[in-house]
Amino acid sequence: MGDRLDILRLGYRRGRDPRITTHLALVARAMGATGFLLSGDEDKSMFENLKSVSDRFGGTLDTEHVKGMKFLRKHVAEGGIAIHLTMYGEPFRKAIPKIRRDRPVVVVVGGAKVPGEVFKVCQHNIAVGNQPHSEVAALALFMDAWYGESASEISFPDARLVIEGANDGKIVHESEEE
Ligand code: SAM
Repeated sequence: MGDRLDILRLGYRRGRDPRITTHLALVARAMGATGFLLSGDEDKSMFENLKSVSDRFGGTLDTEHVKGMKFLRKHVAEGGIAIHLTMYGEPFRKAIPKIRRDRPVVVVVGGAKVPGEVFKVCQHNIAVGNQPHSEVAALALFMDAWYGESASEISFPDARLVIEGANDGKIVHESEEE
């Protein structure tokens, strides 16, 4: 029950946020999240893009559009853990060891305006430095600290394209299977 970790992006605006929100989802996938949940505007084409990345590079990232606050309240009421990434929070390296891992976890990242209720509903408000910066950077550093080295060294067994890291040139292995 404890292995599930989803990222919840609040307040998505289709006109302004697709690029940064796609980057957020790509970091979530690449570093081992189970799912990426979007609240605010719906965006089927973004979910299709993410699926096409997983089709080529492997793994699955569950994607779902949710009503953010309703989802979050229910998640916590059912015993889940909610972690809000915010510049106002407790330093993440100090906070993470205190967070229980035996329950499903939702990591909340804000959009333009974060409702005050988020700070109360989430059991943990944690900061990646107490300066304003980027949700993508905050998520990547959080996931690195949460999973350790394995976060950035993930390999997906069902990948069609596997990149072998190299100092010079691009080495890409392509699986024969359909
Ligand atoms: N102005 C917004 C507000 O009302 O708080 C925040 C905008 S910020 C670009 C978008 C999101 O990035 C935040 O909601 C938070 O999740 C994340 N973020 C930005 N700086 C952060 C930091 N220092 N630590 C953790 N998360 C951060």
